[in-house]
Amino acid sequence: MQRTCHFFLLLALINLSNCTKPVETVKLEPGVSNALATYRKEQISKVVYALFFDLPASKEAPVKATLSLRFDLKETAQAVQLDFRATPDQLQQVVVNGESVAIDFREDHLILPPKQLLAGANLVEISFVAGDLSLNRKDDFLYTLLVPDRAATLFPCFDQPNLKAEFILSLQLPADWLALANGSVDTVQIVGDRKVIQFSPTAPISTYLFAFTAGKFQETEATIGGRTMHMLYRESDQEKVALNQAAIFQLHHAALEWMVNYTAIPLPFEKLDFALLPEFQYGGMEHVGAIFYRESSLMLDENATENQKIRRASLIAHETAHMWFGDLVTMSWFDDVWLKEVFANFMAAKIVNPAFPAINHDLNFMMSHQPAAYGEDRSRGSHPIQQPLENLRDAGSLYGRIIYQKAPVVMHQLETMMGPVAFRDGLRAYLNHFAYGNASWDDLVAILDARTDHDLRSWSNVWVKQPGMPIFAVRIAATDTTGLNFIYEQPGQPGSYWSEETAVVLFYPDTIKAISLQLAATPLAGTLSVASEPLAILSHSSPMSYGYFPLDRKSQIYFLRNVATISDPLLRGGVWLSLYEDVLRQQLPVGDYFLALLDAIHQEADVINRDYLLASLETIFWQFFTPSERNQYGAAVEQMLAKAYQTAPRPGDQLAYFRTYYHLSTTAPAVVALREIWENNRILSNLPLTEVEAIDLLGELAIRIPAEAPALVKTQMARTLNPDRRARLAFLTPVLAGDEQQRDTFFASLKLLDNRGTEPWVVAAVGYLHHPLRAGQSIRYLPESLALLEEIQATGDIFFPRQFITAILHGHQSAKAAGIVEDFLAARPNYPYRLKNKILMAADLLLRTAYPE
Ligand SMILES: [Zn+2]
Repeated sequence: MQRTCHFFLLLALINLSNCTKPVETVKLEPGVSNALATYRKEQISKVVYALFFDLPASKEAPVKATLSLRFDLKETAQAVQLDFRATPDQLQQVVVNGESVAIDFREDHLILPPKQLLAGANLVEISFVAGDLSLNRKDDFLYTLLVPDRAATLFPCFDQPNLKAEFILSLQLPADWLALANGSVDTVQIVGDRKVIQFSPTAPISTYLFAFTAGKFQETEATIGGRTMHMLYRESDQEKVALNQAAIFQLHHAALEWMVNYTAIPLPFEKLDFALLPEFQYGGMEHVGAIFYRESSLMLDENATENQKIRRASLIAHETAHMWFGDLVTMSWFDDVWLKEVFANFMAAKIVNPAFPAINHDLNFMMSHQPAAYGEDRSRGSHPIQQPLENLRDAGSLYGRIIYQKAPVVMHQLETMMGPVAFRDGLRAYLNHFAYGNASWDDLVAILDARTDHDLRSWSNVWVKQPGMPIFAVRIAATDTTGLNFIYEQPGQPGSYWSEETAVVLFYPDTIKAISLQLAATPLAGTLSVASEPLAILSHSSPMSYGYFPLDRKSQIYFLRNVATISDPLLRGGVWLSLYEDVLRQQLPVGDYFLALLDAIHQEADVINRDYLLASLETIFWQFFTPSERNQYGAAVEQMLAKAYQTAPRPGDQLAYFRTYYHLSTTAPAVVALREIWENNRILSNLPLTEVEAIDLLGELAIRIPAEAPALVKTQMARTLNPDRRARLAFLTPVLAGDEQQRDTFFASLKLLDNRGTEPWVVAAVGYLHHPLRAGQSIRYLPESLALLEEIQATGDIFFPRQFITAILHGHQSAKAAGIVEDFLAARPNYPYRLKNKILMAADLLLRTAYPE
C-alpha cells in the first residue's frame, strides 16, 4: 500500500516538473550514480550500439575503434552523459547528429551538449581508442570481461543494466584469428592478412553482457536436437580435447532442454556458443550467445573425480540457466545482482543432481552453503542479501558468500514454502512479464505473493533485507522431562520475524525421532511434548536449516562421543556444524571439539563430511591453537593424518588426507618425511606427486626449512615443465626462497598495479608471506596491507579485495594483529562501509580467537 502511494507521488512530481521547470541537473561524478541511472532510464530508450574494433596482432598496439550510437531522448533540457573510464587522449572525434562537437570529457564521462541533441532519435558517432583494462590482451588472443561496470572502460556507453540495447559488432583482425561474439557471424571479408567479421545484431541486452573474444583458437561444433553449438578452445592436447568435447556439448544441450521445459520459454537468444579461455577470472561468465569459461573447469583429466564432474556439470548448467535468469530478465540495478546468481545456482542443482545418484545431494547442498554463509553472516561485517548500491562503480563489492551461499538456502526455503509447482509457475510469469527487460526482487515477490497464502513480503523483509542469522535453542525442561522447551530468538528489528522450516531430531538409545517444526512469528517460545527424555537433541537437521542452533551441554557431550555412530550423513553434518558454532560462540571448549575431530575424521565414510572435517581441523590448528598448543598436539595430528593417507583405499582419499597432512606438519620428523616424498616425486607407490601438488608441497617445505628454501625452489623450477606454472613459481620465488629483506621488497612491490596483474598469484603470494609460522615477522605488513585495500578494490577484479585480505589475516591470531585491524577501522570513521564489512568478515576468526602474547 505504501509503495503505491509513493509511486503516484513520484509520477505527480515528474509531471509537475515537466510542465514548469527543467529537470534538476544530474551531478557530474565518476561512475554511474543511482541518480544518473534513474535519470537516463527515464530519458533514454531504443539504444543501439554499432561498434567496430580494429584488433592488432600485437598486444601492445592500440585498439582503434568507432561507435555509432543511436538512442531516443525524451527532452533536451540537460546534457547527456556517456560513461567512458578512459584518458582524454583516447577520444578522437565526436559527431552529434551530423555535427562535429568539441570533446567535453570530465569525471569519466563524455558529455554530449544539449544544443546538438534532439528530442526523439539521435545519432552520435565517436572515434576512439578502446581501453585495455577489460580487454585481457594476451600474446595471441584477447577477450572482454565487462561485468559489472566495465563496459565503460572499453567504449563510451550507458553502462547500467536497465538500458538494454541492440549491439551490432564488427571486428577487424588478423586473418588467421577466430572470433566469437554475442551474435552469429553474418559476413567475413578477407583482405590480405586481415579480415573483417560482421556479427548479426543482438536482441536487447545489458552492457555487462556484451562480449567478444578473438585470437588463435581451435574451433569445433556439434549439432544436437537440431541446434548447432560452437566451441572455441586453446587446449593443445588433442587427446584431452577428444576426451571432453562430447561431454561438454552434451551437458549444454541437456541444461538447455531442461531450462526450456521448466520455463516453457525457448532459448531466448539466437545461439548458444562458448569459448574456453586459459586463466579466465571466473569459472564462467554468461555472456548472451557466447559463454566464456575457464578452460581447466571444462577440460578434465582422464582420472577426474566424481566431484570434479559434478562441478563441471553444475557450472555449465549455471551459465546456461543465466540465459533466462539474468540475460532475458535482468536486475534493474546491481543491488539485485544476487537474484540472477541464486536462480542460476538453484536451477543448476535441479538440472545436474539426478545425473549423480552416488552423491548425497542434501548433504552436499548443506555443506557447500551453510558453513561458508555463516562465516560471513556471523561476523560484524554481515549485511543483508539485498544491499543498497549508490554508485555502480561499487558493484564489485556486493559479491560474496551472503549472495552465493546464503541466498540459495533462502530460495530453497521459499520454494518449499510455496510448493514447487506454484513456485515454478510464478517464475514463468515473471520471465514472461519482464522478457528482454528488467525487474527487481520486489517485482518477483509481488508475482509470487499472489500465488501463496504465506506473507512473502514480511518473509522477504527479514530474510533478504536484514543481515544476520536467527538463533533457535531447544532445551530439556527442568521441571518435566517429557517436555522440551524451545526458544526462537529474533535478531534485528523489533517486529520482524524469521520464519523457517526445520526439524528437531531426538536421539534415543535405539532410535532417532524427528519432529517437524515451522518456526514462525508465534510462538517464539514453547514446549514440545515427547514420550521420554532423549539422549541428545539436534535442530540443524535439514538442508534448509539456517541459523545458530546451540546444543545443550548434555547433547554436546553425547555428540562429541557418538557422532561417528550416527548413520545418517546429513545428521552427522548437522552435528558438526552445530558443535563448531558452539566453539565459535564460546559455548564449547575448543580442545573438546578438537579431540572429537581427531577421533572422527578417519572414521567418516562420507567424502563431503570428511572434507569438511579436514578443513575444520586446519582451521582449529592454525587459527585457534596458540603456538604452544600446536607444539603440544602437532605430533598427534601428524600421526593420525599420516596413517589415514597411507591406509585410505582410493587415490582421491589418499590425496585429501595427504594434503591436510603436509599443511599441518610441523615436527622435524614429518618435515623430513615430506621432503623425501617431494624429492622422490611420489606420495605412495600407487600415487605420484603431480606437478601442481609438488609445487604446493614445496611451498610448505620452504616455509619450514628456510635455510634450504633457495635450493629447493631452484630444483622445483628445473623440474617444472608447464610454462604457466613456471611463471607462477618465478613470481612466488622471493616469497618462498627469499630472506626477510627480500620479502620486504616483494611486499613493497605489490603497491604497484603492474605487479598485481595476475591476481591469483598475488593471493597465493600474500598467503605464503603471512603464513602462521611467519606471523611474528609479517605482522609489520598488516597496516600497509589494510591501507592498500581501497586501491585494490578500485583496480582489481570483483573477488580480489576479499581474497587478498583473507589471505593476509588468515595467518594472524595475536591480540596485536587484532588490535591493528580494530585501530585501522577506528581511525577511519568514513571508510567505505562495504569494504569495512569485507575486512570484518575476513577478520572474524582473528577477532574471536586472538590471544595475548
Ligand atoms: Zn552466475
